[in-house]
Amino acid sequence: IRKPMVAGNWKMNGSKELVQQLSDAINNVKSDKIDVVIFPPYPLLPMLTAAGVTTGAQTVSENEAGAFTGEVDAQLIKDLGGEYTLVGHSERRNVYGESNDTVAAKFSRAQQVGLTPILCVGESEEQREQGQTELVVAAQIDAVINKLGLAALKDSVIAYEPVWAIGTGKTASPEQAQNVHKFIRDKIADKNSDLAQGLTILYGGSVNEKNSELLFAQPDIDGGLIGGASLKAGLFTAICESA
Ligand code: 13P
Repeated sequence: IRKPMVAGNWKMNGSKELVQQLSDAINNVKSDKIDVVIFPPYPLLPMLTAAGVTTGAQTVSENEAGAFTGEVDAQLIKDLGGEYTLVGHSERRNVYGESNDTVAAKFSRAQQVGLTPILCVGESEEQREQGQTELVVAAQIDAVINKLGLAALKDSVIAYEPVWAIGTGKTASPEQAQNVHKFIRDKIADKNSDLAQGLTILYGGSVNEKNSELLFAQPDIDGGLIGGASLKAGLFTAICESA
């Protein structure tokens, strides 16, 4: 029932050359069976979009256009052909201090202009060791539900990215990931089961062409949010093909 999605988060990497190298490969794996979306650095978004790739921003401002030096308006991303935006990636939360409230405001602004937000959630290693995974993930999701209402999740995607698995080569096992994905879906199903069944939940954190198939085979894992491996055409397309 849910269409798989494989998303590539280029983070602060990429170049005009990378767009040229990857766009053909990405367009070749696109099909009606899978959504493929790339999150490049802002300046490359129009170029990727023009090449036929579905794109999104890595973050957007929670504000409308105005005097906010260095920020980018969600409406501009939409005008340039972007369709999605990540909100609350752990690097935004941890390196740039974004709170759950700020993330919820960005989520709201994205939907206001017609971008689909991908809400990133996940616990740190310490939080996992202390048994707080579900508490942390629930609070990250509740920040959005409390501000915007449960229905806001209808036009969104959730990405579970345990912080300890990002860029470390330490992937969550399929079982560990499935348990958290099921927790997220059950939590929403408690309030609205149709919404929960329709919700796309991605896994992110050291996904590669070797571990993707087992992860994506889990019943509540609907695809992946790929960092490092999204920068190599062969790896990224192999991951897409395993979805
Ligand atoms: P890696 O795939 O490099 O671990 O990054 C995951 C990620 O943060 C995607 O948003």
